[in-house]
Amino acid sequence: MKNQINLLPEDIPTKWYNVLTDIPQPLPPPKDPDDGPSRIESLPKLLIGECLKQEFCTERWVDIPEGLIELYLRAGRPRPLFRAEALERELQTPAQLYYKGEFFSPTGSHKVNTALAQAYYARQEGYERLTTETGAGQWGTALAYAASLVGLKCTIFWVRAVYNWKTSRRNFMRLLGAEVYPSPSDQTDVGRALFNKNPRHPGSLGIAISEGLEDSQKNPEAIYCLGSVLNHVLLHQTIIGLETKRQFEKIGTYPDIMTSCLGGGSNFGGFILPFVPDVVNGGKKVRFIAAQSKAAPNLQGEYRYDFADHAEITPLLKMYTLGHKVEMAPIKGDGLRYHGCSPIISSLRHLGFIETVAYPSDEKYVFDRARLFIQTEGYLPAPESAYSIACAIDEALKCKETGESKIIAFNISGHGFMDMVGYQEVLKL
Ligand SMILES: *Cc1c(COP(=O)(O)O)cnc(C)c1O
Repeated sequence: MKNQINLLPEDIPTKWYNVLTDIPQPLPPPKDPDDGPSRIESLPKLLIGECLKQEFCTERWVDIPEGLIELYLRAGRPRPLFRAEALERELQTPAQLYYKGEFFSPTGSHKVNTALAQAYYARQEGYERLTTETGAGQWGTALAYAASLVGLKCTIFWVRAVYNWKTSRRNFMRLLGAEVYPSPSDQTDVGRALFNKNPRHPGSLGIAISEGLEDSQKNPEAIYCLGSVLNHVLLHQTIIGLETKRQFEKIGTYPDIMTSCLGGGSNFGGFILPFVPDVVNGGKKVRFIAAQSKAAPNLQGEYRYDFADHAEITPLLKMYTLGHKVEMAPIKGDGLRYHGCSPIISSLRHLGFIETVAYPSDEKYVFDRARLFIQTEGYLPAPESAYSIACAIDEALKCKETGESKIIAFNISGHGFMDMVGYQEVLKL
């Protein structure tokens, strides 16, 4: 039995899968709040034209442009699917464990899959510069990389509390040619108001988003990019699940359980969505489990309309949410700390297709399980991906008790080479 299932470069998917055509109920559309200017009417100024079109796409399959396929190949796609034989032996489980290697990403995470698409379209539409925010830093690095490859400039507003200590990632973004500002910065009105009061303001994702948006709205040569939550981002990420599905087909296997970590829902969605029509229409039974942190268990919140950002610049989205003003304690897997879950995943959860588990926010439990993975399989997962591993191991241990040999697939959304401090602090290395 080969423990690595590979696709050839010529096997790379050439279309993304749009789940909107297969969700049993139409997705509730974005809405304007009762007060203030229309957020919906301002969307064409906020988003790349092609991405906005994809947001409401009604075709089941969407062509990936040829130039973008070239970029995906350059970034090392297709990525391998591994059978975790060593981990299975260690756990003495009858279950079969498979993991998708998104950690083979040039910047460290799956976020390059949508960053490349957004940069590609922005370039096509004549923009010269991309603006964005970043929290943990993975999205900023992915966008800096994508901008650099297609020849665009990139401006990143980075939550100051994280900017200050993640020096390797900061240097990586600058090496890629991006301008990186700690947020709140002195570059925008929103930022300056806060910065002038307190130059050491720790910042927040909400403030950084507002800075990125203001920068792009005031400068017509620039356009803002978002790294998760929205339908077009999940669409781009389906390349993960489409590859995985072909890899399972190659070995004549089909998963019983699929799990991944979930912050805004883009890697989880990208991984599972191509399997969803088989379950919704095709009579297959797959348990889809989202692995979250108790610091931000958004799928256990309320299903209602809420803003996607702190400053209420975005339209209202129907999603599972903890409330857009909620304070969430920082964690090492900070990419999972977001108040709401993507409308697509929220809708599927509402219809009963998605389970969720939330792990303790001290992260000892998940990092201990990640350590087991590192010592058997040899790859260093991102702190966020440790949650996928914890959930897969939990399910494998349940199989050990029941004697069931289930097929468990999990996605490893990134590597942790730039986040060692997290492991060091929690595991006392
Ligand atoms: C950003 C990030 C996440 C969480 O975001 P999703 O949109 O939920 O996927 C998970 N893992 C890694 C490595 C990330 O960078």
